[in-house]
Amino acid sequence: MPEAPELQVAVEFLGERLPGQAITEAQVLKPSVVRSLAEPLPDDAVGREFVAIARRGKFLLLSLTGGYSLVINPKLTGGIQFVPAKQRVLKKTCVRFSLSDGNDLRYVDDRQMGQFYYVPDDLVETVPGLAEQGPDVLDDFSFDDFKAGLKGFSGEIKGVLTRGRVIAGIGNAYADEILFRAGVYPFKKRRALSDDELRRIHQCSREVVLDAVEQVRQRMGNQIDHKLRDFLAVHNKGGQPCPQCGNAITKLRANQRITSYCRRCQPGMLLRN
Ligand SMILES: [Zn+2]
Repeated sequence: MPEAPELQVAVEFLGERLPGQAITEAQVLKPSVVRSLAEPLPDDAVGREFVAIARRGKFLLLSLTGGYSLVINPKLTGGIQFVPAKQRVLKKTCVRFSLSDGNDLRYVDDRQMGQFYYVPDDLVETVPGLAEQGPDVLDDFSFDDFKAGLKGFSGEIKGVLTRGRVIAGIGNAYADEILFRAGVYPFKKRRALSDDELRRIHQCSREVVLDAVEQVRQRMGNQIDHKLRDFLAVHNKGGQPCPQCGNAITKLRANQRITSYCRRCQPGMLLRN
């Protein structure tokens, strides 16, 4: 799942290339991912130019001239490609826009679980899931705001973080990284966390993502649909030594997903209820 670091770098990349470019041709290859909330894609989009590119949590927002926007929720396997028009169209390509500079903007999605919305600007906030997003992980929000946002959530802290309502932009991988840096057991219930632990989670969220943006920015190049994750400390590194204490990293499957953590640096007990 693309998370804030990859999407942030993709937004920077597209922000330097897309504004001012017109859509000269539009093709929907996999209609199941497309949601048009007024006029239908593809015909209505042709002739419009890109205006601005932004990210909110794990959503991408691409605004067009004439008061329309593309809102992309890539979910598990979605991604954007910006490639020369002559480059081979992969089987996973769902939407293809030809651009006035001879490049293509393509939405690719192996499992077609993502959603690609074409909406008038005044309906952007009605895109499912978008308005419920909490403050973005890269926004500078205070510890008090973070604590206030946590009220009403009682589950395990990792699940709370990945839902996007308290902090937006964090998925399975970066939740593991943040909790490792904060030294917090991922399955600890929100109510059992001390003020000090919450303070560390709040601080480490932004730090971990900022560090990752820097790593991804240096190495992503033009393959903005790729997920560079090899520099992570614990996520998907089960059995490898913990970078802090050398103990083998634990990798287990719980709640239908992989969680990686260090038993020594993030002590806690897995309680089943
Ligand atoms: Zn450790």
